Amino acid sequence: MAETSPLTVFEERQDQIHCTGDGPFEMACNRDSLAGAVSQRACVFCGSRVVLYPIADALHLVHGPIGCAAYTWDIRGSLSSGPELHRLSFSTDLRERDVIFGGEKKLAAALDELIDRHHPNAAFVYSTCIVGIIGDDLEAVCRTMTEKKGIPVIPVLSEGFKGNKRAGYLAACKAMNRLVGTGDVTDISPVSVNILGDFNLAGEIWIIRNYFERMGVQVVANITGDGRVADIRRAHGAALNVVQCSGATLDLAKMMREEHGVPFVRAAYLGIEDMADSLYRIADFFKGIDPGIVDRTRALVREEVSALLPRLAEMRRDLEGKKAAIYVGGAFKAFSLIKAFRHLGMTVAVVGSQTGTEEDYAELAQVTDPGTIIIDDANPLELSRFVKEKDVDVFVGGVKERPIAYKLGVGFCDHNHERKIALEGFEGMYNFAREVHASAMSPVWRFVPRREAQNRAAAKGGTAPADAGSDAPAPGEANIPNDKEAVA
Ligand code: SF4
Repeated sequence: MAETSPLTVFEERQDQIHCTGDGPFEMACNRDSLAGAVSQRACVFCGSRVVLYPIADALHLVHGPIGCAAYTWDIRGSLSSGPELHRLSFSTDLRERDVIFGGEKKLAAALDELIDRHHPNAAFVYSTCIVGIIGDDLEAVCRTMTEKKGIPVIPVLSEGFKGNKRAGYLAACKAMNRLVGTGDVTDISPVSVNILGDFNLAGEIWIIRNYFERMGVQVVANITGDGRVADIRRAHGAALNVVQCSGATLDLAKMMREEHGVPFVRAAYLGIEDMADSLYRIADFFKGIDPGIVDRTRALVREEVSALLPRLAEMRRDLEGKKAAIYVGGAFKAFSLIKAFRHLGMTVAVVGSQTGTEEDYAELAQVTDPGTIIIDDANPLELSRFVKEKDVDVFVGGVKERPIAYKLGVGFCDHNHERKIALEGFEGMYNFAREVHASAMSPVWRFVPRREAQNRAAAKGGTAPADAGSDAPAPGEANIPNDKEAVA
């Protein structure tokens, strides 16, 4: 990070933060989190869980201590149009005795009971840290249960310690790839796709499927939002994989291209430009066998955008000039969000992700304004400092960023897996604008000590620094160590 910045961070993390325009772009990323820095990033098991859990007719069994499963029950906005087995959380609840003598028998007994009780179409068994340490043979147990129960019982090799969240994505893709290629593909249209990397939060995949239907494109499998085991089994029959997200399901798309010859295109459904570009890219792919698809897609985009823009203009009047911070799991969301904020007249002052790649961050450096902080694998201390220093008005993040925003007294927009409001597609852009407007314009922020100091200074004709009033720590801030003690 450039020396000109007054911000201070752990010395070992300096090269994971870049300030746009502050020297040539150079940034480290995709490495293990710094011990003691309390990363916002989730573990390998969590990475595989977020990808696989939306498969609604599968059993999801966490093989490990109960604590690993604590963050699984009904915490996601992933909706299902049918079965809801994914909303239940199952764990083998490993105890000290199991750690000493092994947990394989307990796992087999749990699968036996759960499969008989819930009749899933497949079962995923997630390996956690302790299972990797004691060496339970998940492959052997799953193989035995597959033969015994007549459904695929698939191990997910997602021991939490073996990497970062991206390793969990890969483990999930390998698990799903065992299903692909095992179903009947006879009735699939040549104009057909699989939707990869959308998790149907608040019903978003239904919005996207509706666009595809209006374009005349058949959707074979949702991977994985509102997903079904039978659809994934025949996903290799689709003509194209449409992959959203920079990391979660890209490995599966690559596996399917190598093993089944299915090509893939990248897509993003957030914001106006990226949504429209994604539809046009798919239309372009199929125009050779369906010449009318380009016109149908143009008509769709025209209709949606002409209805949307006047509605956005109303909110833009209030939001013009306000500043945003973005911290997301995959960096692909950040690209779309930066464009979305520009439609609202807002700038992005801080942007970061848990799992961005060097290419992702290089692109962020290109699309952000000078002075924007770009950050990889942040921790609460860094996020708090940057949000205060940049005097941000609204923070876009997930469940772990929400308390940081509220403690600092800034608006918040949930853009993560827990959200209950659809933000994809053209109607999602409107919902996003409404969320940002409601939070950023709330009168409550005027009473935050920092803002009160600014307001007092403004009334006297002067200016107060962005973090004025922060001598008295915000709630929850008291345990943040001071610069000299803890940061370089
Ligand atoms: S890091 Fe290990 S122990 Fe912690 S939740 Fe992940 S798998 Fe479980």
